[in-house]
Amino acid sequence: MSGTLTVVGLGPGDRRYLTPDADEAINSADALYGYAPYLARVPVRGHQIHYPSDNREEAARAAAALAHATCGGNVAIVSGGDPGVFAMAAAVCEAIETGPEAWRALDVMFIPGVTAMLAVAARIGAPLGHDFCALSLSDNLKPWELIGRRLDAAASAGFVVAIYNPVSRARPWQFGNALGRLRRRLPPSTPVVFGHAVGRSDERVDVTTLDAADGKNADMATLVIVGSRETRVVARPGKPPLVYTPRAAVEVSA
Ligand code: SAH
Repeated sequence: MSGTLTVVGLGPGDRRYLTPDADEAINSADALYGYAPYLARVPVRGHQIHYPSDNREEAARAAAALAHATCGGNVAIVSGGDPGVFAMAAAVCEAIETGPEAWRALDVMFIPGVTAMLAVAARIGAPLGHDFCALSLSDNLKPWELIGRRLDAAASAGFVVAIYNPVSRARPWQFGNALGRLRRRLPPSTPVVFGHAVGRSDERVDVTTLDAADGKNADMATLVIVGSRETRVVARPGKPPLVYTPRAAVEVSA
């Protein structure tokens, strides 16, 4: 009596960012699993049961949802943004790879959502208009040394860098350290965008430069975009500037 498991992206904020596909998947679920604040964004419907959990419990949450689906019913796991970007989709795949054989036989679907870097970029122009990469600064699941090496490589190779998880309560200093590393490889005037709680009522988007960027401007709901040598800021009278990375790149400078 096997059921289904759907891993659903809620987008970055309010329901305008929820795709019709994600909405349908949520409506047809009997049980919803997720990090408590994300689950709180989904109204409880009569027949549904919510199973909120803490954000450090991704593996346990994936296992619980898979076990539930194996017993029958339509189970959904919700993620903020896109479930495939530093979120639950990979945790579910890891659990299926290492878990009981029955989990491999389940119908599992992944419903994409608008990830934070795209929502922030759209607020300000086109900072991701040319080659870019995304990096999580969380060192829960990888050593800080590796994060540092990847930042150095990304900046040296000319990628715009979207930084997820810049800070957390347990990681107060890493983002400042990351800015220091980037300053050694990029010009002081490199544009930096801080997008805080984009798509929510307390949204704030600030544009600054790498030399003026202050680590204290970022919190757990901030996505930071650090430009490349090509990224430009277009001032506009009476309007916020546009930040964009041109479609053509001349050369990669280390
Ligand atoms: N799966 C999510 C990312 C989870 S990691 C996604 O695709 O967006 C959590 C990090 O995402 C936060 O620390 C922050 O860097 C970023 N983030 C999530 N929602 C955001 C929002 N509304 N505004 C800005 N950044 C956000």
